[in-house]
Amino acid sequence: ATSAGDSTLREYLQHSVTSGSGSGLPLLVQRTLAKQVTLIECIGRGKYGEVWRGHWHGESIAVKIFFSRDEESWKRETEIYSTVLLRHENILGFIGSDMTSRNSCTQLWLMTHYYPQGSLFDHLNRNALSHNDMIWICLSIANGLVHLHTEIFGTEGKPAMAHRDLKSKNILVTANGTCVIADFGLAVTHSHVTGQLDLGNNPKVGTKRYMAPEVLDESIDMECFEALRRTDIYAFGLVLWEVCRRTISCGIAEEYKVPYYDVVPMDPSFEDMRKVVCIDNYRPSIPNRWSSDSLLAGMSKLMKECWHQNPNVRLPALRIKKTIHKLASVDEKIRLDFDEVCV
Ligand code: ADP
Ligand code: MG
Ligand code: MG
Repeated sequence: ATSAGDSTLREYLQHSVTSGSGSGLPLLVQRTLAKQVTLIECIGRGKYGEVWRGHWHGESIAVKIFFSRDEESWKRETEIYSTVLLRHENILGFIGSDMTSRNSCTQLWLMTHYYPQGSLFDHLNRNALSHNDMIWICLSIANGLVHLHTEIFGTEGKPAMAHRDLKSKNILVTANGTCVIADFGLAVTHSHVTGQLDLGNNPKVGTKRYMAPEVLDESIDMECFEALRRTDIYAFGLVLWEVCRRTISCGIAEEYKVPYYDVVPMDPSFEDMRKVVCIDNYRPSIPNRWSSDSLLAGMSKLMKECWHQNPNVRLPALRIKKTIHKLASVDEKIRLDFDEVCV
């Protein structure tokens, strides 16, 4: 058995890769985690819980604390992170899940790597981007999405997964300006080997603002995994738009805005979204300046192919990744050391 006191986080994580407990620490160690963590500050608060920065063996980690009424999300997220081979440089690094008692209430904890820069949403609000910044952000998200969406075959294989709540608030920014995908409370898995689609047991639905037209008009076949994967691509298209608005060309960038900021209220209803996305067939507008910048022009074509009304013509994640890579490779101002990101 491993004792938690005498090793560094990194060694633990390395060990956990081969320990058979999915992408986190060995399960026995996970069940002792909450006792070893000191909560430092609350960094996020939502309807369903809080996210804290905590200290664990001298390192900062993120602790997501679920209210017990959202137990299904905790279970689901733990289950997803416990999938073998999920660990990837563009997927939020999982440490472990534990149950604990605070102020005589049961709390469900999920511990992950901590990213001081916070979410992509926060990052875009604070910063305008160079072409190079934009490419690394988009390429790394695409890379994470390819890994998520792809089934890996073999004795220790990985099922394909759809995220179902992709948005700029569920993507985190690392110190080197790349991104990791986070918040797997709604994810679903599918395996061709077993033919099994696992929808989980979560009554929650995704964020209305990012819902694909076929979700809003309820025409989507929820039993079809491919259909669920295509809703991620729609949402990714909206994220690309958010990122490109903040990308500087000729010294200017648009201010940060959420998708559909101009046509729906702050906390839009299902009906608000359905009217705009399905009935009016409206999509985020492409600023004029993008057409005179070859990279932004290429990206605008790409996002339109992602948020297309017809899910069958949306691009697969791998095609998106290759397109972004190709667009970047003709821009001589962009660092071309993509070997790590692109195979
Ligand atoms: P929820 O399911 O409640 O939406 P998330 O996992 O999306 O919870 O986390 C909520 C917010 O907390 C994120 O949008 C982000 O701003 C912040 N956050 C979450 N995890 C981390 C982390 N590992 N490092 C830094 N910030 C984080
Ligand atoms: Mg979230
Ligand atoms: Mg969530």
